[in-house]
Amino acid sequence: MEFFSSSLYVLLLLFAVTSIRGYQLGRTVLANLMRFPVGACPRRLGRRLSLQIRPRWLPDLSIAEMARGYMTNSDLEDAMKQFITRCSHISRMYSIGKSVNGVPLWVMEISDKPGHREAEPAFKVSTLLDLQFIGNVHGDEPVGRELLLLLANWLCDNYRKDPLATLIITKVHLHMLPTMNPDGFSLRVRGNANYIDLNRDFPDQFLPMNNDEEARQPETKAIMRWLKEYHFTASASLHGGALVANYPWDGSQSKRREYYACPDDKAFQYMASLYSHSHYNMSLGKEFHEGITNGAAWYPIYGGMQDWNYIHGGCFELTLEISEVKWPDANELPALWEYNRISMLNLVASLVKTGVHGRILSSEDGRTLPASVAINGINYTVIADQAFGDYHRILAPGEKYEVMATVPGYQSKATRILLEDDEAVNVDFVMDPEGGPQTTKQLPVSINCNCNCDCDKTKIYLAGLEGWTHVEMSLVVAVILACFGILFKRKTLLKLLKQRPLLGPRRSVGV
Ligand SMILES: [Zn+2]
Repeated sequence: MEFFSSSLYVLLLLFAVTSIRGYQLGRTVLANLMRFPVGACPRRLGRRLSLQIRPRWLPDLSIAEMARGYMTNSDLEDAMKQFITRCSHISRMYSIGKSVNGVPLWVMEISDKPGHREAEPAFKVSTLLDLQFIGNVHGDEPVGRELLLLLANWLCDNYRKDPLATLIITKVHLHMLPTMNPDGFSLRVRGNANYIDLNRDFPDQFLPMNNDEEARQPETKAIMRWLKEYHFTASASLHGGALVANYPWDGSQSKRREYYACPDDKAFQYMASLYSHSHYNMSLGKEFHEGITNGAAWYPIYGGMQDWNYIHGGCFELTLEISEVKWPDANELPALWEYNRISMLNLVASLVKTGVHGRILSSEDGRTLPASVAINGINYTVIADQAFGDYHRILAPGEKYEVMATVPGYQSKATRILLEDDEAVNVDFVMDPEGGPQTTKQLPVSINCNCNCDCDKTKIYLAGLEGWTHVEMSLVVAVILACFGILFKRKTLLKLLKQRPLLGPRRSVGV
């Protein structure tokens, strides 16, 4: 039996609601920033920049004064088109709908195979980078959409030069929506053209009367369609007005302000802490311990995108407050970009470097199965992709987990893994039909993959055999391989082997 490497669908939904200046300015900023080595300490870099810090009170400026230095909606569209023209080898652009006033909601996808669904070896991103940077939900918070253009251009300029940029482009499909609310940006208001707060417009688990999907605003419906069309793993929205990484739940059952943990509280704390500690000063503030907060513990909201994505999109989403001033002067943008650059890169890369990933296959003919994958003790299930059978599960590193796969009509299987720091684990499940031959108690083999070293370091786990020596484990694997060689018909094996081109270099173990 073959072990198939998984592919990672990662979606970066960067909803940034504001924009600052045009692409040319972004290029100038990037050219200046490129003088600093990638991966250098952002704090140290930040001190080199001349940041003009303003008080948190909002200045009494006219709309024209506020907009100075920021891209208009048409400037933003032009900047995106310039980007995909200049970087056509790693990008494409598509629209997910229109705003109330008919402005297209443009998305940039960045990948070495943009627009292609893939099932490539370990953590080669398949369709989507399921990490969402969600910003630009609120019209009067424009920093995020500027940063997304800077991020896109930085990735393009550093592809095959910087390891992190190369990792993201080759392993992830990064989808960025710079503005979810272009009408609100033009009006310099929080809500959309109907003055509806889009981050209160999603169906909510605690407000059943709010669950009519057709009653949503066009921008909200576009996001909901998008999340259902793509198989995003994670997401982040970019906001302004505070400096903190916020994680689910945003609302509480009691409707009171209290810490209300979701099933994946540990994983979300890990993701939020990764962002805040990679940031110039997010983790150093006095208002939020370590620069992170549970949403309901800060202030509960209902109808937010973050909770909806986690519940209905299978997507782990953070709400990132990236500037204390909602609409800062444009001359602060270079510093804000530099303060957030490593955080944004690390958050995307974390999808490749941690968690458990794999494929679900039938032992009968090798076809992929849309299995449910759950972690023992965590009340949350992810569904493997229908087309490629791959699944991606974000988990906090440094712990042991039991991964379970279930498909109707097949015998359920489970295996235990140790998720070490900065090292993802690949677990492929080969499912036997109910009533068919019982192979072993637990057959899945997982392969640890440190994507910093191009996956050449592998470890093989067999559930229940932790502590065995390598020789003993090798003998077990050899016996299992021999048994399967006898049990499986030549025809079946040939079918499975035909899928090898999808899987890349041989690094799985057949059982
Ligand atoms: Zn906001």
